[in-house]
Amino acid sequence: MKLLNTLISSALGALLLAGNAAGQSAGDEFAIVLPSAGIDLRDAPSEAELLAPTRVVMLGTGTPIPDAFRAGPSIAVIHKGESYLFDAGAGAVRNAVVARYKYDIPSLYPSLICCVFFSHLHSDHTMDFSELALTMWWERNAGLRAWGPEGIGRIVNGMREVHLVDVDIRTESLQPLRNPDGFEVAARTIEPGILLEKDDLVIEAFTVDHGAIRPAFGFKVTTDDLSLVISGDTAYSETLLEKARGVDLLFHEVISEEGVLRLPPGFQRIQNNSHTTSRELARLADIARPGLLVLYHGLFFGVEEGSVLDEIRATYDGEVALADDLDVFP
Ligand SMILES: [Zn+2]
Ligand SMILES: [Zn+2]
Repeated sequence: MKLLNTLISSALGALLLAGNAAGQSAGDEFAIVLPSAGIDLRDAPSEAELLAPTRVVMLGTGTPIPDAFRAGPSIAVIHKGESYLFDAGAGAVRNAVVARYKYDIPSLYPSLICCVFFSHLHSDHTMDFSELALTMWWERNAGLRAWGPEGIGRIVNGMREVHLVDVDIRTESLQPLRNPDGFEVAARTIEPGILLEKDDLVIEAFTVDHGAIRPAFGFKVTTDDLSLVISGDTAYSETLLEKARGVDLLFHEVISEEGVLRLPPGFQRIQNNSHTTSRELARLADIARPGLLVLYHGLFFGVEEGSVLDEIRATYDGEVALADDLDVFP
């Protein structure tokens, strides 16, 4: 691994340099050495992983709109050597590989990611599902575990059908398969309430209001050292507000108040019914008072991205940040 760490990935390097050239990323931020390729195997988390504080890594902060600097929405919570993903938008797995090396988080290596929770089944939140489940499936300790609203089973069955071609090819070849069943995804349909309890980690789902898309869920994660709420896609939600009261971190989607007013009236109505404007979010945060409000899945409609921060700060005096891909919290 030491040797690998001294090699710079040309492809990735080019990508990261492109980000710098366009002035979107802080200059030296990507001056890190990444291995070009490496196979991470691990039976159990190391002592260091078990002792590390809970961390949150933004694997994607974008929307359905293709964006050179933002992968589709995906948030990873890393706790005691396991990574729990919330949504898996396009590009999230690629960013997980970068984050694995950039922050030395072994559990973010794709075939070591144990679990994914889907807030709803809009494609911008699920595009990397098969990437996540199938990347080096034959090296997985166990198949990916997935939770999602009604419909998750259909996606898993369809995905399985598509990838059985690959499974057959590899199974019939001479390739050694560490886990011949590693491609199988264990899917569960979400009902509001506690989804997973492991040691001192609790993951809970609650319904939010994403317009005509029902059900849609937000998530609350509590560990021994951190509490956080993830909105998924939602209009202003009283349920979310209650769950978010006093949490350390509130990750919330947002649409620009100024931007949405530029849209034709019919489209404005659709956006307002299914997403939260910056003004509404400021009101919600003012009541919930999270330690830090983190904006992601921002729809700006042509307005400069930072304007949502100004719009929120106009009426909210708490801490607020606009997340970029690969940001880490706290
Ligand atoms: Zn979305
Ligand atoms: Zn959506």
